[in-house]
Amino acid sequence: MTTQAGGRRRSTASVPDLVSRARQGQPAAVARLISLVEDASPSLREVMSALAPYTGRAHVVGITGAPGVGKSTSTNALVGALRARGRRVAVLAVDPSSPFSGGALLGDRVRMGDHALDADVFIRSMASRGHLGGLAWSTPQAIRVLDAAGFDTVLVETVGVGQSEVEVAGLADTTVVLLAPGMGDGIQAAKAGILEVGDLYVVNKADREGADLVRRDLRGMLALTERADGAWRPSVLKTVAQTGEGVDAFADALAEHRTWLEATGALEQRRAARARREIEAIATAALRARWGALGARSTLDDLAHEVARGSRDPYSAADALLDTV
Ligand code: GDP
Repeated sequence: MTTQAGGRRRSTASVPDLVSRARQGQPAAVARLISLVEDASPSLREVMSALAPYTGRAHVVGITGAPGVGKSTSTNALVGALRARGRRVAVLAVDPSSPFSGGALLGDRVRMGDHALDADVFIRSMASRGHLGGLAWSTPQAIRVLDAAGFDTVLVETVGVGQSEVEVAGLADTTVVLLAPGMGDGIQAAKAGILEVGDLYVVNKADREGADLVRRDLRGMLALTERADGAWRPSVLKTVAQTGEGVDAFADALAEHRTWLEATGALEQRRAARARREIEAIATAALRARWGALGARSTLDDLAHEVARGSRDPYSAADALLDTV
């Protein structure tokens, strides 16, 4: 068994050593740094400080869509297209709807086997382990690790339904919404608010009947969505991820959006918005940790009962809680 030896080696690796090995592109060091993020390790402060000067280069692309539309297959195909352009690619699979990475994520990793032997492709699924700020806290930090490790493109694939589309939009430079015919997506799109979040829409499974209809519906709905002057107008592509058809155009469209982001200053704005959320998530987690350390959990419980009984208002309760830290 290598577990124990691995464990021992892990505990002795210094942060500067790990960071320098990750920057050389050593997958084991990159994986170890992401595990530190997953575990909310106390050494993260030192890690993030060491990584900061090397961040800001990668194109962060979020890929989202309902289960079964072909996210894994498309990601796999896209990795191939980006590799053909000489780009180093990292894939981070996250599940915002669940605190643990489950079978689906593991399955994704297996299916990504096409690139398993390529040293310039790094694939990792991530769990939030249900503590601190969850994925809002951990995903940006994992992206930082991959960015600093020199990956040119970081593909963040979200698994799960509900609000995940909207969440991934906050994480990425470019957000891709994947749809497929026969899944009632046209109607779902309007409901889930995805018309506002996508920079690029991809109708996958274009080999199936109805793909043109989905594309037409979507274009119609996007045309009705209000946008500011000079705003990016998302295009709608068609792909057959299974055969790779349309995937080159997909990679072109990503590059085009990245160029637009840079030329207009939107990249800086998006990244500042992302950093803002990241700072908030870290600060909130730190506050919670302090409440815990100070025994304020019980204070919070007491306050909650007082507010529920009507003997206190929630604002004065929040003041009382903040006074404890
Ligand atoms: P995910 O749940 O969104 O990650 O979807 P998957 O990538 O796992 O794909 C779901 C199913 O659709 C799998 O059986 C794929 O083989 C299949 N699939 C993916 N892309 C295509 C495509 O372009 N055409 C067809 N016909 N099937 C596809």
